[in-house]
Amino acid sequence: MLEGAPSYSRAKDRAPAKILLVEDDLPMQEGIRDVLELGGYRVVTATNGSEGLAALARETPDLVISDIMMPRMDGLEFCRRVRQEPRWASLPFVFLTAKGQKTDVRAGMSLGADDYLGKPFEMQELLDVVETRLQRTATIKQEMAAQAARLREMILHTVSHELRTPLTFVKGYTELMEESGGDLTSEEFMRFLSSIKLGSDRLGQLVDDLILLISLETDDARLLFEYEKQRVDLSSVVLEAVAALKPKAAARNVMLLTQLERPSCQVVGHLGYLLDATKRILDNGIKFSKPQGGRIVIRTEERAHQAYVRFADDGIGIPADQLGQIFQSFYQVGREQREQQGAGIGLPIASKIAELHGGRLEVQSSVGVGSVFSLALPVASQTYVSKAGSAVGWARPYS
Ligand code: ADP
Repeated sequence: MLEGAPSYSRAKDRAPAKILLVEDDLPMQEGIRDVLELGGYRVVTATNGSEGLAALARETPDLVISDIMMPRMDGLEFCRRVRQEPRWASLPFVFLTAKGQKTDVRAGMSLGADDYLGKPFEMQELLDVVETRLQRTATIKQEMAAQAARLREMILHTVSHELRTPLTFVKGYTELMEESGGDLTSEEFMRFLSSIKLGSDRLGQLVDDLILLISLETDDARLLFEYEKQRVDLSSVVLEAVAALKPKAAARNVMLLTQLERPSCQVVGHLGYLLDATKRILDNGIKFSKPQGGRIVIRTEERAHQAYVRFADDGIGIPADQLGQIFQSFYQVGREQREQQGAGIGLPIASKIAELHGGRLEVQSSVGVGSVFSLALPVASQTYVSKAGSAVGWARPYS
């Protein structure tokens, strides 16, 4: 196994990676250790799973190589324990297997091991596996860090903008009122006051939206959903959302048309959440209509035990390369070019509400032609009876 001149130094470009080697056969352990050290790695050793766990906590290695058959705690149990611990869940784990341990290999891989080496193996093989696994983990870490940085940037940009604009309104008009020393006509007074209210409403909405998004990402929303779910009539939801948004649509010269299935589609859901999601999708249709106005057709239908609410608008549309991103929190299409209201969390909220109901939100769009958002929800069974329950302060309706 150890023949060949060991002249490896692959890890020379970075700080040497630390490898935990768990092997009860001491000559074997020593041989592998030598190869790894000559390859430029630092090595810590253990002779069974229990020692391995202790070494993991103490040494925080970058990769684990473990034998399967060992006394006290074998490699499979060791791997299972490692994967149970969140801080080690993505630590690269490689098994060493002897001939005839095929079932163990399969079991190991299903427990979350990343790779395995069959004994006897060549030095080169060992170093290749280690280097491949380390590089893969480094790439994943880099990508995650880049994603986190992008997210931070988006949050900073959108949220700070969304906080600052209304705050400027509130501050500016309050100062004007203060400087006037009470010398304002009643018309001016009312105008300033309504601008302050507009600003504070927008701030309040942003805070509420952020709280709702967080509650949908944690178990809070699910608990509320389970407690308050009931048979919901989708036509009523659509009609209520349309009635609420009609004035805004009229102001943008957007017509709202409904085509509702009869008898109406019934789902098991949370009335408040479903209304919220519907209003958000509709609101976007109005917000992203063409300057001259347009129309949105809202249609409900039932197919193969699924209820669909389809929102088809003839607005500005979404570029194909950004369709995948619009459900990400804080993402907005072309925020730099288009000054628009919103924090990029409307669609993530709507899509999480769909998921909470065991459904999904999908989109098709074409720039300059329009977009179709489709909310798919499982249909309520004929026999579903709502729990007797009244609305108990659910996490804030959209306004
Ligand atoms: P926001 O609340 O800021 O509008 P959303 O999460 O609701 O954020 O939407 C994300 C982005 O998706 C929007 O900024 C917009 O660019 C795009 N979008 C959403 N709905 C539509 C639509 N009906 N037509 C065109 N673009 C849309």
